[in-house]
Amino acid sequence: MKIKKDDKIIMLSGKDKGKKGKVVKVIPKIGKIIVEGVNIVKKHRRPKKQGEKGQRIEVASPINISNAMMICPKCGKQTRVGYKVLENKEKVRVCKKCNQEMK
Ligand SMILES: [Zn+2]
Repeated sequence: MKIKKDDKIIMLSGKDKGKKGKVVKVIPKIGKIIVEGVNIVKKHRRPKKQGEKGQRIEVASPINISNAMMICPKCGKQTRVGYKVLENKEKVRVCKKCNQEMK
């Protein structure tokens, strides 16, 4: 997965197109991510006890990773993620716009 937790992304399509947010969870199995404040759905929670009211809660639901693009923390542009192998064989992500490393 090119996108990791705590990355900033911008939405490229869907109802939240253009919205930016922070990745709070990555779900590699299904190729989806959960982004703070993006793709909010309202869920209805049933009352647990009798006499208690049901609640409407807002939850960020997962989005396809292909609908989001990374925002580079260094140059602030939306960018594709590339890879670079360092001298110590460590593979790091790099921004394709400014070529700087993204942790
Ligand atoms: Zn950059």
